[in-house]
Amino acid sequence: MKIVNYPHPSLRHPAVPLPAIDKKARLLIGEMLDLMYQGHGLGLAGPQVVLPFQIFVMNLKADPNERASEHVWINPVIMERKGSVEGEEGCLSFPGLYQKVRRAKTIRFQAYNLKGELVDRSTESEIEARVWQHEVDHLHGVLFIDKMGPIAKIAARGAVKTFERDFRRSQERGEIPADVDIEKLLKALENGANEPPPPPM
Ligand SMILES: [Zn+2]
Repeated sequence: MKIVNYPHPSLRHPAVPLPAIDKKARLLIGEMLDLMYQGHGLGLAGPQVVLPFQIFVMNLKADPNERASEHVWINPVIMERKGSVEGEEGCLSFPGLYQKVRRAKTIRFQAYNLKGELVDRSTESEIEARVWQHEVDHLHGVLFIDKMGPIAKIAARGAVKTFERDFRRSQERGEIPADVDIEKLLKALENGANEPPPPPM
C-alpha cells in the first residue's frame, strides 16, 4: 500500500460503503494509519491508497503516540454544516501544495468507528471540521483543488500542472498502470477481488 499522487484515477473514483469491519479491513486500516503518520498528515482517505471504500483515518496531533486523538471513520456522512471559514489546507496526494480553502466552521456527522458503533456528534474544533470535510470529499472523488477560490486556484496552477506531468511520465515509464487498468482494479476491489468466484451454473 502506498499513497498515490494527483492525478491518479483512484482520487476521482467515488468510494463505496465498506461492507464489513472484518480482519482484512482492520489490516488495511492499520496500514493507512502507518502511512498517514509517515507522511505527517492529519488525515488519509481510502481512495488515496487505492482502496475504493468509504473509510478515513485521522489524528489532529499527527502523532502516533497521541492515541486518544486517533480516529478511524467508516461510512461517514456529514449531516449538517454551519458557518464558513477560510483556512490553509494541504493534502498527502499533493505533497508540498498548500492553499486557502473555505469550509464550514462546524459540522455534525455520523460514522461507524472501528468497534462498529454508530457515532453521531458535532465537531469540537475548526480544524476537526476542516479535516472531516476534506476527507469526506475524498470519498466522493472531490479534491481540495476543486474547493479553492479563484485566487488560490491560480496560485496552485503551476504545481497542479507539475503533478499532472510527473504522473503521466511515471505511467509512460511503466511505474504506474494505465488509467483503464487502474479503473479495472478499483472495480475488482469493490466487488471483493479476494472472494472465490461463484460456482459454474
Ligand atoms: Zn487529501
